[in-house]
Amino acid sequence: MIGSGFGGLGAAVRLRREGITDFVVLERAGSVGGTWRDNSYPGCACDVPSHLYSFSFAPNPEWPRTFSGQRHIRAYLERVADTFGLRPHIRLDHEVLSMRWNADALHWEISTARGGLTADVVVSATGPLSDPKIPDIPGLAGFPGKVFHSARWDHGYDLRGKRVAVIGTGASAIQIVPSIQPEAGALTLFQRTPPWVLPRADRAITRAERWLHSTFPATGTMRRGLLWGIRELQVSAFVKRPNELGLVETLAKRNMARSIKDPATRAKLTPDYRIGCKRILLSSDYYPALAAPNVDVVASGLKEVRGATLVAADGTETEADAVIFGTGFHVTDMPIAERVTGADGTTLAEEWKDGMAALRGASAAGFPNFMTIIGPNTGLGNSSMILMIESQLNYLADFMRQLTTLGGRAALDARPRAVAAWNHKVQSRMERTVWNSGGCDSWYLDANGRNTTVWPGTTSEFRRATRHVDLAEYEVLRAPARTAEGPGVRAGGMDAGVADAGARS
Ligand code: NAP
Repeated sequence: MIGSGFGGLGAAVRLRREGITDFVVLERAGSVGGTWRDNSYPGCACDVPSHLYSFSFAPNPEWPRTFSGQRHIRAYLERVADTFGLRPHIRLDHEVLSMRWNADALHWEISTARGGLTADVVVSATGPLSDPKIPDIPGLAGFPGKVFHSARWDHGYDLRGKRVAVIGTGASAIQIVPSIQPEAGALTLFQRTPPWVLPRADRAITRAERWLHSTFPATGTMRRGLLWGIRELQVSAFVKRPNELGLVETLAKRNMARSIKDPATRAKLTPDYRIGCKRILLSSDYYPALAAPNVDVVASGLKEVRGATLVAADGTETEADAVIFGTGFHVTDMPIAERVTGADGTTLAEEWKDGMAALRGASAAGFPNFMTIIGPNTGLGNSSMILMIESQLNYLADFMRQLTTLGGRAALDARPRAVAAWNHKVQSRMERTVWNSGGCDSWYLDANGRNTTVWPGTTSEFRRATRHVDLAEYEVLRAPARTAEGPGVRAGGMDAGVADAGARS
């Protein structure tokens, strides 16, 4: 397993539940939590309700708020690691540097920051929000002040009284701006594209509610079911009838008008694309913060830095002491892909140079026994990623069962035709969706304009599509007889094992 965020920890729990214990979780950082460990910026919280944004197998009756903050989500993941006995499997500070498929031995040879390993199966759960993206801005290196990314917040830097520039208006920036506005001397927001923002109905979960969920767990399940059901019903508007979303735009405009009284500013903040095309943002304090006297919105992207002066694409110049990039992550160019070399010697990045594609979001052709959690086209526009992750865990569990059933040493490699057929189906459904037809550019789309991130359907459809591994979609690989019996290869049935290379030789 690579990564110990929701995906990696979830996969670890699932393997244990399948009776598989010979595995490790390789984590590059010094603690678990993935994106919820890395994103500690002020105001960081989840915009999916907590009772839905948690594992179905690890309900948390103690969520403090309807939309709980980063600290609580991170603590939840730490608890999952403890409760499910995952600690002995976790290898912290083990960044995966490279991995290569050995076709003779039918295993992966992995090089990490702490030495080598071999693994029969690799589950890559590095997630789409793990590597921050800072745009290549001319002159940035010469900026004399402080510069950091939202996912690498410098808590030692005091923003009080400073002239702060925030770059970007995505889900991260709109949480940051209201949190730092009261302390910044002056805050300038560089908005390349305005987002659609709806109010966030955040509130403390009462003690009575928490008691109820602890005492009668079924009530927590019902709450989750309701939150899930509402979002399932919304999907058809996103994927089939984007025009129906016009009504939601009216609600978003009203939300803005409540705080932004100046028509010129409202015009500047109003998107010109269909709501939902980019992720709909939820915040009740973003517009009030923009209306504060110490905040200025530059309706243009940051183009250049000249000394302490930030120059926008429209020529606006702003002096700043600190620049905070809320400019997102390497999503469609998944960085781990450059480190994975498959059966024919090509890297996953090369395989995906025209766009990511994987059978049922999990298996790329030519990369046997390698699965991605939150792989291509498994993202969501309006619901909880944990639902998608759990579907992928079902698929992983069946993958492991199938390998065991095959017996001997075997590996499964997705057939190119099956990957292409799956991808064709996904992409043709994508055409009508709001993400592709809504008139915006977003991180859902790759450099070629192809949407390789979002699942164009309901979470239940994806659940059904990933219930079982269809062996007809895979080629079964067997180790050459001489190697299969040779030294250094584990005897007996297939397992999910990972062992220290040194220990096995
Ligand atoms: P993001 O959605 O990719 O937003 C990046 C922002 O940076 C965009 O507004 C983009 O503008 C802007 N940008 C890029 N280059 C720029 C430039 N030179 N000048 C000005 N602006 C520039 O990144 P994010 O906000 O970190 O969010 C990423 C994802 O993380 C979210 O979509 C969401 O899935 C997740 N997230 C979730 C939560 C949550 O509550 N669950 C919170 C935070 C993040 P354009 O729009 O013009 O490209």
